[in-house]
Amino acid sequence: MQTNEIRVRVCPKCGKIFSERGAVSRVDNVTIICPDCGTREALESICVDETEQEKILDTIHSSIRTY
Ligand SMILES: [Zn+2]
Repeated sequence: MQTNEIRVRVCPKCGKIFSERGAVSRVDNVTIICPDCGTREALESICVDETEQEKILDTIHSSIRTY
């Protein structure tokens, strides 16, 4: 049976508490991390440096305001 309940999780990477759908870490394909860390890992995989990663995350956050 499938449930759509929203679970609150703690991201093992950054310690942030999140309730939205997480991302599966590329590191082990099992660990659920927060969407931000998911984005960071994706950007990292295409060789985007940390400064650029934060800029992109800022852009995402300012366009999708959910809280
Ligand atoms: Zn995180």
